[in-house]
Amino acid sequence: MGTTVVISCMNSDDPRMRMKEDVLALLFSRRAKLPVLLVPHIYHAPEEGRFRQKLAEIDGHIVLLSWLNPRPAEWVLRWYGLQGQILALNIAAYENPEACFAAFAESGFASQPAEAPECAPDAPDADVREIDVDLADRWYPVVDRSRCVNCKQCLQFCLFGVYELDVDGKVFVRNPDNCKPGCPACSRICPRGAIMFPLHDDLAIAGAPGKLMVPDAKAKAMFYERTKRPCPVCGSVYKPGQKRAAGTAVCAECGRPASAPAPPGQSPGQSPGQSPGQSPGQSPGQSPGQSPGQSPQQPRKPGDDLDSLIDDLERLR
Ligand code: SF4
Ligand code: SF4
Repeated sequence: MGTTVVISCMNSDDPRMRMKEDVLALLFSRRAKLPVLLVPHIYHAPEEGRFRQKLAEIDGHIVLLSWLNPRPAEWVLRWYGLQGQILALNIAAYENPEACFAAFAESGFASQPAEAPECAPDAPDADVREIDVDLADRWYPVVDRSRCVNCKQCLQFCLFGVYELDVDGKVFVRNPDNCKPGCPACSRICPRGAIMFPLHDDLAIAGAPGKLMVPDAKAKAMFYERTKRPCPVCGSVYKPGQKRAAGTAVCAECGRPASAPAPPGQSPGQSPGQSPGQSPGQSPGQSPGQSPGQSPQQPRKPGDDLDSLIDDLERLR
C-alpha cells in the first residue's frame, strides 16, 4: 500500500511559511520518493468540491504535514472519511524543514525509510501536485473518535445543532459552520477530552501533544444547568431563575446545594450508572485528577464565574 504526503498550506502572507512548505514538498518527493499533494489549509477548506474529491482519491497511508497540532490535524482528515494510517506532523514544531523530514524518517512510518537524495531538487520527475481552492476562515469542533465514548453530552449541550447522530447512532459534527466563532464550550464539558478546537490559544483545547482538556467543576455545573439534566450524583435539577448556593457545601458534580434530594430509589451520592467519561475505579462524582477516596462533595466558591459563562453562552444563541 502506497503512502502520499499531504501538505496543508497556511495560505499566509509570510513568505517563510510558503518556503517551508515548498522545501518540504521537495524533501519528501526527492528523498523519500513519495507523491506530494499541496492542499489548502485542511481546517478551513470546504468539505465539498475538488478538495474533498482529491482527498478521497488517496489510496493508502498519509503523511500529513500541517500547521496544526498532530491530533486535531489527523482527526480533521478522518472526519473527511480517510481511513488509512496517518502520520501527522506539525510543521511549526520543527526548527526547519530538514528537522521535520528527519522526524518522519525516524518514525519508520508505513515502512517507508527515507533515502539519500538521488537527483537535483529541480529534476523533472518530482511528483508534486497542488490543489487550489478559495478559503474562508472557519471555526468548528474536531472530535477525536478514538477518545469519544458517545455519551452524547456535546449533542445535548450545544444550542446550535452542530452535532448530530450518524447512521450508527454515533455523535459527529454535522453542521460545523453553525458553531459560534471563538466558542470552545463543548470542549470544556466533554468527559474524555475528545473535542478540540485546533486554533484555540489554550493548548489543551487545541489538542497539543501531552495536553488533554478535562471538565472542571465549573464546566460540569454549566452542563447540568444548560441541559436541565438531573445530576447523577445528588439528583438535583436546575430550575430557571433558581439562585445558586452561596458559600456553602455544594455537590462537586453539578454545583447545586449538597442537600438536594436524590431521585426516587437512589440514595444521595449514588450514580445511576458510571458516567461514560469515568476511568475504571473513578467514582461517579469524582473529577478527573481527584483521588478515589476523596469526597465528591466539597465546599467551593459560589458560581459567579459560572453565571457569566452561561449568560455568555445564552447571549450567543
Ligand atoms: S461529549 Fe465527548 S465523549 Fe461525549 S459524545 Fe461528545 S465528543 Fe464523545
Ligand atoms: S463550541 Fe459552542 S456552538 Fe460550537 S459546537 Fe460547541 S457548544 Fe456548539
